[in-house]
Amino acid sequence: MGASEYVPVFHTVDVIRAKRDGQRLSDDQIDWLIAAYTDGRVAEEQMAAMAMAVFLNGLDADELNRWTAAMIASGTRLDFSGLSRPTADKHSTGGVGDKITLPLAPLVAACGVAVPQLSGRGLGHTGGTLDKLESIPGWRANLDTGEVLAQLEDVGAVICAAGADLAPADKKLYALRDITSTVESIPLIASSIMSKKIAEGTGALVLDVKVGSGAFMKNRKDAATLAQTMVGLGTAAGVRTTALLTDMETPLGLTAGNAIEVAESIEVLAGGGPADVVELTLALAREMVAGAGVDADPAEALASGRAMDVWRRMIAAQGGDPDAPLPQAHHTEQVTASNDGVLTRLDAYAVGIAAWRLGAGRARKEDTVQAAAGVTWHKRPGDPVRTGETLFSLHTDTPERFASAIAALDGGYEIGQEATTPGSIVLDRITAG
Ligand code: URA
Repeated sequence: MGASEYVPVFHTVDVIRAKRDGQRLSDDQIDWLIAAYTDGRVAEEQMAAMAMAVFLNGLDADELNRWTAAMIASGTRLDFSGLSRPTADKHSTGGVGDKITLPLAPLVAACGVAVPQLSGRGLGHTGGTLDKLESIPGWRANLDTGEVLAQLEDVGAVICAAGADLAPADKKLYALRDITSTVESIPLIASSIMSKKIAEGTGALVLDVKVGSGAFMKNRKDAATLAQTMVGLGTAAGVRTTALLTDMETPLGLTAGNAIEVAESIEVLAGGGPADVVELTLALAREMVAGAGVDADPAEALASGRAMDVWRRMIAAQGGDPDAPLPQAHHTEQVTASNDGVLTRLDAYAVGIAAWRLGAGRARKEDTVQAAAGVTWHKRPGDPVRTGETLFSLHTDTPERFASAIAALDGGYEIGQEATTPGSIVLDRITAG
């Protein structure tokens, strides 16, 4: 029986008790719970208790598949089967300076694969793709399904807001987990992410699972478990899914903010940009192109300028002016080095908090973000540093924020004497079975 069909009615307390006591839930119990929560028959406080029971006792593979299917069935599924090219998408578990979607979507489209990238806004210390793109004058995030399909056929890439009817159970449950300390649960994270990606209707998917101080997953073992779980869910749902575990101990590139990350992405599309951003963009693009079954070389599509052409058309198709100057902050302050040496550590979490405090991110969903706020760092681990040299430039429209941003950076970097060679940003690759 499909997850959306009739299922028997249960008493919510019985279902909560079963999971609280470590029992497995039946398919019918899961279908009923998710449907009844979505339409309000299960109260928020009951679902909060259930989320904590799952947090503590987990879900086995069958429960997790069913839980994810029920979340998908709570809304509508997009269908890209009418497009003339195959589809591929990417999901990142979130990191500091993670602007990869911006160069990646047009790059993969330039290889002949359609990229339907339904994204979100940022909350907390990691930025949101839509917030970054909204710093481009005129650009709009909200498209209806007809516009998404037309742009995918015409341009090949869309980055836009996910509609309210895409896995609405997850929208409610994620907001509830946020305030009940039940976010950091592998089955709940995996079902949350994969329900949205499967409902989105992509044929292939690459997951960028971040590991380190700036990521959800602080250690490699947990990140690998999350990646394996999500690859398993995608594969079971017929989506060709792979995952890369990537480093988020150090922030990506040289910028964290909104407009400044757009500028850095444009540098990558123009053939320059920081080496780590280029490396990760190409690694993810190769996964997406291969997953879509297309024989193309993303490095060539980048070098030839075709990816830049798609970027310009993608921005213009959503009302943006790709030639308009990006907003500049009204105030800038520098943090300089107090001694000579080598930068041995740059902590992603500290940089993310500093950018957030400058106004680049939001603390609550209703907050607005400053387009020009953020942090630029001028050195990366391994770079030599001289006393008095600028390490960070801080940007904001509200200068009273500088002190708390500088405090966030305090202890977030180290200047030592031993030169270290940074390793590859891609730590591991995880595939089905
Ligand atoms: N991102 C999501 O969409 N869901 C989670 O649970 C965590 C990160």
